[in-house]
Amino acid sequence: MAATPVLKPDHAGSRRHFIFTDEHEQLRESIHSFVVKELRPHAEEWEETTFPDWVFQRMGELGFLGLTYPEEYGGQGGDYYCALVLAEEMTHANCGGLGMGIAVHTDMATPPIHLFGSDRQKQDYLVPSIKGEKIACLGITEPDAGSDVAGIKTRAVKDGDEYVINGSKTYITNGHRADFIVLVTKTDPDAGYDGFTLFIVDMDLPGVIREKKLQKMGMHASDTALLAFQDVRVPESAVLGQVGKGFYHIMWELQGERMIGAAGAVAAAQNVFDRTLQYAQERTAFGRPISKFQVTRHKFAEMATKIETARQLVYTTAWRFANGEYPVREISMAKLYASRIAVEVADECIQIHGGAGYMKEYNVERVWRDLRLNRIGAGTDEVMLEVIGKSYGL
Ligand SMILES: Cc1cc2nc3c(=O)[nH]c(=O)nc-3n(C[C@H](O)[C@H](O)[C@H](O)COP(=O)(O)OP(=O)(O)OC[C@H]3O[C@@H](n4cnc5c(N)ncnc54)[C@H](O)[C@@H]3O)c2cc1C
Repeated sequence: MAATPVLKPDHAGSRRHFIFTDEHEQLRESIHSFVVKELRPHAEEWEETTFPDWVFQRMGELGFLGLTYPEEYGGQGGDYYCALVLAEEMTHANCGGLGMGIAVHTDMATPPIHLFGSDRQKQDYLVPSIKGEKIACLGITEPDAGSDVAGIKTRAVKDGDEYVINGSKTYITNGHRADFIVLVTKTDPDAGYDGFTLFIVDMDLPGVIREKKLQKMGMHASDTALLAFQDVRVPESAVLGQVGKGFYHIMWELQGERMIGAAGAVAAAQNVFDRTLQYAQERTAFGRPISKFQVTRHKFAEMATKIETARQLVYTTAWRFANGEYPVREISMAKLYASRIAVEVADECIQIHGGAGYMKEYNVERVWRDLRLNRIGAGTDEVMLEVIGKSYGL
């Protein structure tokens, strides 16, 4: 008589998440293999030098800079989840600044051109950006206004059929290498939220000054600029979207920026978790692998639970986003939670590595330094909490 099979639960789920299809997994494999072969070997060098511009050209050739853009502009016509796949796989370069420089180009500066741009602007800026022939940056933050976007001072004043721009922007990623900037300005200081206008400004125009490369705590492979605009003249055709509606346009942009930041943070946390797991199984103390101490096992359990929770929040929010919702509350939650847990995970991984975690050689301290930005950039933790709190009418 055949023995009755014993029904046992699985130790862990193994199915991929339902938002991803076979096509996404193929894309993931091809980006992963490119990142590991062509980018990761340079990570140490680029920490010193910042990453070179050829990365944009190469990624353009491979079609990775236009994954979600329509084919008529040279894009791949993929869905929103393709952008998540790119953000996740870029973390395998072990070079946070590189991932950020690319994300600013693909998911922060160019989406407003796709959504709000004229056909001429799409031909002149989106098409070459997708090819990797032009590099983009995004200018919101100023020396006197970051979280308080409405407090910016950069002015664009109409003069005949031109606008004259004066002001400054700071902490601008890609600011030194960029060919153009998507610039947030005030066109009517008396009109409140209806007094802002976006412009696309060529960075080689007279009066655009790249003041200095800023030194940072992490993300060393990216360039970060202080920029000045002194009587920069642009034609009316440089207006991006509607005159006076720039504040709403940039609030739309920030949602995508936060989603991509959240996805990248979760993936980076998973990578450092995986590497630390291996380290804990190999490193011995008191005659046993450190992974065999209950305290270490519990650290991994806590980290894994946080990462999985953040991932579910990001994927479910991405699913809403991909299905046409504009869920500011959930995007803010995903950005806040993913950024926080990623920093906590990186910090715990340093602890599990002991002294090695403090050494550059193991690349754990760098992950922590790089990820620390996520709690500040694209809206601080405190700003996310304000947005979430206010969404309840408080
Ligand atoms: C490496 C790096 C790259 C960046 N790249 C870009 C870029 O490419 N383009 C760009 O435009 N910007 C960029 N930024 C800027 C970034 O988005 C801002 O630094 C961020 O939005 C915070 O603004 P702030 O630095 O002016 O801080 P502040 O606004 O001065 O905030 C200081 C502190 O006050 C808190 N605070 C402010 N307002 C409130 C409030 N209402 N309630 C409670 N607390 C509050 C903040 O949370 C924070 O803790 C980058 C920044 C860095 C560090």
